[in-house]
Amino acid sequence: MMAGRAMDMTIDTNSTVQEMTEAVVSKTDHKESPRTASLEKAQTATKSNTTKSNTTKSSQAIEPEEWSIEQSEELYRINGWGDPYFSINAVGHVTVSPKGLRGGSLDLCDLVNGLKQRNLELPLLIRFSDILEDRIERLNACFAKAIARYNYPGIYRGVFPVKCNQQRHFVENLVKFGQPYQFGLEAGSKPELLIALASLDTKGALVICNGYKDQEYVETAMLAQKLGQTAIVVMEQVEEVEQVIEASKKLGVKPVVGIRAKLCAKGMGRWGTSAGDRAKFGLTIPEILTAIEKLRKADLLDSLQLLHFHIGSQISSISVLKDAFREAGHIYTELSRLGANMQYLDVGGGLGVDYDGSKTTFAASKNYNMQNYANDVVAAINDACTQANLPVPTLISESGRAIASHQSVLVFDILGSSDVVEDTVEAIVEGDHLIIRNLHETYASITRDNLQEPFNDAAQFKEEAISLFGLGYLSLPERAKAERLFWSCCHKIQRQLRSMDFVPEELTDLEQVMASIYYMNLSVFQSAPDSWAIDQLFPIMPIHRLNEAPTQRATLADLTCDSDGKIDRFIGSSSRDVKSLLEVHTLKENEPYYLGMFLNGAYQEIMGNLHNLFGDTNTVHIRLTPKGYEIEHVVKGDTMKEVLGYVQYSSEDLIESMRKRTEVAMEQKQITLEESQMLLQHYERCLTGYTYLSSM
Ligand SMILES: *Cc1c(COP(=O)(O)O)cnc(C)c1O
Repeated sequence: MMAGRAMDMTIDTNSTVQEMTEAVVSKTDHKESPRTASLEKAQTATKSNTTKSNTTKSSQAIEPEEWSIEQSEELYRINGWGDPYFSINAVGHVTVSPKGLRGGSLDLCDLVNGLKQRNLELPLLIRFSDILEDRIERLNACFAKAIARYNYPGIYRGVFPVKCNQQRHFVENLVKFGQPYQFGLEAGSKPELLIALASLDTKGALVICNGYKDQEYVETAMLAQKLGQTAIVVMEQVEEVEQVIEASKKLGVKPVVGIRAKLCAKGMGRWGTSAGDRAKFGLTIPEILTAIEKLRKADLLDSLQLLHFHIGSQISSISVLKDAFREAGHIYTELSRLGANMQYLDVGGGLGVDYDGSKTTFAASKNYNMQNYANDVVAAINDACTQANLPVPTLISESGRAIASHQSVLVFDILGSSDVVEDTVEAIVEGDHLIIRNLHETYASITRDNLQEPFNDAAQFKEEAISLFGLGYLSLPERAKAERLFWSCCHKIQRQLRSMDFVPEELTDLEQVMASIYYMNLSVFQSAPDSWAIDQLFPIMPIHRLNEAPTQRATLADLTCDSDGKIDRFIGSSSRDVKSLLEVHTLKENEPYYLGMFLNGAYQEIMGNLHNLFGDTNTVHIRLTPKGYEIEHVVKGDTMKEVLGYVQYSSEDLIESMRKRTEVAMEQKQITLEESQMLLQHYERCLTGYTYLSSM
């Protein structure tokens, strides 16, 4: 904790912000490519196009004051985490600009309605292929710019870590969009190796082979080199050095291999332990030296061409990354000096995503941008090689999160809510219990200048009412009346508080107590496992009605019967702030209410599980066209038959068993033939249906 805090304080936020602005729109950079220049023009154009009218006044808003789109922007911080892909349009809907600054946009709410008309039910995972393309272009453009800026005499050749998102359509698109940059793939396991070897057909692109390996893994990767693929086996464990030597002898292949170093520069936050002496992967410096001797003896030292490290994911502080690049640069030059034929330096993952849009070292954020990152990689390695008077390596990064997160949006509907309703305050009648009279008086005493005392009193009277009930002195209707009065007091106090700038500390819990629960048609375990498992924050907000005041505060509960299946941590409105309640709109009768969860394209899909047998959601791939959009692929979510199959139930057997039961029940005259047919029809229809609830 202390170390982390000390580190935060040394960061000069002013210079970081300045550096970022420079990196994003550097007008003085002469080496600017024509593309970057046109991007800037597009940016200016988009800006002037999106002048918003905030004259649309909500007729439904409970609070009479006007609510503007700008207020929604600020509240949900969409410009912080969403730029340049997500924003709010004049009718108060979220819009998606999947090509980033190059123009063209889609109204997310209209898109969802269009997809629903095509029978694609919510929850719906929408992948924007153009965003994926834009992310790949951006990463490569940042490295190209950094290479030009530092006159780096080498190249950048990135790879995508397949573990971030293994879905076939995604990987196929990634390979396609990566072709102009010879973008490759990184495998972290044997099945991922199979994906990488078969999917990547880009000439000159790399396959980086990481993870635990057996002889079969090593041999498969080495044999693939005979197909003309550069599959580099990275030795991550001491035993893998022997495996590599053996496989090379057996197959008669001179492989290209790499070595993963355990750096001293430690990451921080959740994945901080990915580096350091006790990390799960990598060789320590003494182990690397032993490996070099073994390779030398086997006459394979010229096969060792790559140095790899990975200090963890979502590194929020640029200074941590800088330290790692510097250390790795020196290890690289030392390996060269020891006789290895060094060609590549692979800086692993860690390039962060600004989930809360605060641009800070907070775990859900990062205090640098992609350009700063590329600059620091290039500069550090350039320095190390210049100092050692050695040729520079081809630079590789394994950026997963930064490439995959933005492209998918999960849209889900709210099925209903549980609210603390405000009843009209009932008049006191003859014979009302003293406690009820007291609560009534308390209610009357609430004024703007008198909030704390009535709140304490009301709470105490409610406690007393419950005790009296427990002792048999209060009837059930009396207890109900007392509880209703208590909530009326809370409502009255809350209304006063919301119009005040300052909330007394003792009353801050009131909002929490009064919050609604909104029920999501979603399983957190399936669709946002990191939110449940490691408290990760994802931006969540309504995708429509953003020109109306969100007058409710709510936590979100999911469909599972698990009390952990909820979301009660949201990105805050100021730096490092985490809110326990989300501002939402009141639900309207016969009108769906949609929320979007953003930036969840990395890791979530594959880690999602089948808790309560809620399966994969429907997924669509959307591509922007001049006239609107095109649905590239539809991947239907799991049916009940499929999820039941995962737990070894055959739907035929289940139906058969139900049929037999209805026969027995008919024989005993418990059910009519008609009813039994209806039951069986329902049962069979369910089996082929979506595991989520049907909505409007
Ligand atoms: C997980 C992983 C990555 C991806 O990290 P991101 O932070 O998502 O970019 C890269 N390399 C290795 C070795 C990994 O284990």
